[in-house]
Parts: sequence; C-alpha cells; structure tokens
Amino acid sequence: MIVVLRPDATKKQIDHIIKRVKELGLKPHVSRGVERTIIGLIGPEDVLRVTPLEVFPGVEKVMPVLKEYKLVSREFQKEDTVVKIDGGIKIGGNRIIVMAGPCAVEKKDLLLEIGKKVKEAGATVLRAGAFKPRTSPYSFQGLGEKGLKYLHEVGKRLGMATITEVMDASQIPLVAKYADILQIGARNMQNFNLLKEVGRAKKPVVLKRGMSSTIKEWLMSAEYILANGNFNVILCERGIRTFEDMTRNTLDVVAISVVKQLSHLPVIVDPSHATGKWGLVSAASKAAVAAGCDGLMVEVHTKPEEALSDGAQSLVPDNFSELMQQLRVLSKAIGRTI
Ligand code: PEP
Ligand code: MN
Repeated sequence: MIVVLRPDATKKQIDHIIKRVKELGLKPHVSRGVERTIIGLIGPEDVLRVTPLEVFPGVEKVMPVLKEYKLVSREFQKEDTVVKIDGGIKIGGNRIIVMAGPCAVEKKDLLLEIGKKVKEAGATVLRAGAFKPRTSPYSFQGLGEKGLKYLHEVGKRLGMATITEVMDASQIPLVAKYADILQIGARNMQNFNLLKEVGRAKKPVVLKRGMSSTIKEWLMSAEYILANGNFNVILCERGIRTFEDMTRNTLDVVAISVVKQLSHLPVIVDPSHATGKWGLVSAASKAAVAAGCDGLMVEVHTKPEEALSDGAQSLVPDNFSELMQQLRVLSKAIGRTI
C-alpha cells in the first residue's frame, strides 16, 4: 500500500499517520521528496479496511500495490508530468525540448564553440559527459570534475541548462553541484542503489532505457526514483539491442507511445546512440517527434573526426541546424512547438 500525502501535509499530520499505522502493525517507509512525501506500508494490509487512511488529515490518496509500477503509472496520475528545469525550461509540455552537445566534454573552448552553435540552432539544454561509461577501459573516460566545471561555466555563459551523466551514487553531490539534470546512462538503468540515491536528490533526472531492457523494467527503474521522493523523472529511449547490426542499436519508436499510455512521465529520444551513424540521426529524430516524444538529445560536434568519443554518430552544426528547421515544420504540423 502506498499513502501519498498532500503537498501541504504538516509534520504533525505525518507523525500522526506514522504513529497510527505502527499501532496497526504496519511498517511505514517514509520518502520525503521534493514535491511530496510518500509513505509505503509493509505488513498485513487488511487492518486498513477497518481504519481507512484516506480519512486522515494530510492524506491525498491511498493506493493498493497490485501493479508492479505504481507511482509512475497513469492510474496514479492522469495528467502528464511536466518537469521544470532551472531557467524556465519545461519538459513534458507542448514544447519539444532539444538537448544537444558533444558526447563528452573535451576542451572548454571546444564546448563553448559547440554550445554556441547548438543554441543558435534552437537547443536549450547543453549535453556533454564528464564521467563516460566506455566499453573499453583504455578509451577516454571523461575529464571528471574538470569537465563538470567546464560544462557549468559554458552553460552559464550561454544561458543554457545542462545535463550530464552520473555513473555512481558517490558522484551525485558533485554532479548535482554543477549540472541541472542528472543523466542515468543505459548501462546503469538497473543500478538500484544509484536509482535510490538520485531519488533522494533534489534534481531532475533523465533515465535512459537499458539497452536490453523491456519497457516494464524501465518503468520499474523509474519507480525506484519516484518511490524515493523524486518525481522529476524524464524517460529517454536510446535504442535497444536487436539482431540487426547495420545500426548501433534499434530505435524502439513505438516505445514512446507505449510509455505515454502507461505512464505520466515525459519521454525523450536519443537518436544518436539509437543509430550510431550521423547519417541516420535526422530520420530517427523526425520519426521520434512524429511519434510524440517530448524532447530529443542529439550529439553534435564541430570536428566529429577528432571527437574523443562517438564522432561517427555526431552531427556537424550545419546538419543539426537543418534538422532543427525541419523539426520546426514537423512540430507545427502535430500541434507542438520546438
Ligand atoms: C551518453 O548519452 O553519452 C551515453 C553514454 O548514452 P547511453 O547511456 O544511452 O549509452
Ligand atoms: Mn555518446
């Protein structure tokens, strides 16, 4: 059973509920989130038939845990979640939000040069990794804190929000100090300790779909973040592994609609990792927008051939700008803005 408290529930009301459920023999698990507090109850739920918790002051709703994912589900919340990022950006509303930038922070000047170009073209969030999850331990692993500082400085200078990956729970305070959005990478989608900790952090989170994960597993991972108090979660479809090897991954474009039916959370798409080839990024982006995504995350580099990671799938600024122009027309046709 999950007890969702009203955003204005007082400490006295919460303490009273906790006292009562303990008296009833249930074990309460309190998650204090940015927006609201949730109390998960473990134990013999039958007692709640006699003492319905809905009548307690401060309680918004009480939900039986029948489905595996609960807080992320449309049953729990009918309206779309709109995640607000510092700087007035809203993800999940009518406007499609475009995040763009290099795969990794390499040099400050280079990041500024790329940032300027993507901003000019219409991106509002600057992406770049400082901690890189690389398949090979010999590949570039990212600049770490120095990279976070560069990203923060460039974002501030250009008036762009920033997103970067956090690979380990111990990195959260550091990454949260510099970035506006925490990214959980595909390889960490089921790193449950990390999910619990970003749940406790007061920052929006982009949760990428694991490369071999079902939609249900992806939603269960999002549930971990919400259950720990953070409702500011944006799901990101980034392609899954299939038998097809012409592309790096296979973009599961229908997953956008499936998730929109099952969940109230916003969904964005990463066409770069989904395809692995810059020549396919434009088609994948347009398909994603047409299918109803709330945003895109695109890798862009001024010199893809010299990029320290993922150059092959990075658009040059001119191609990115052309794509944005096409997306403007497409968004208008489906009643959205970009
Ligand atoms: C990335 O966005 O830089 C990244 C590593 O993506 P993914 O986790 O989807 O592979
Ligand atoms: Mn990349």
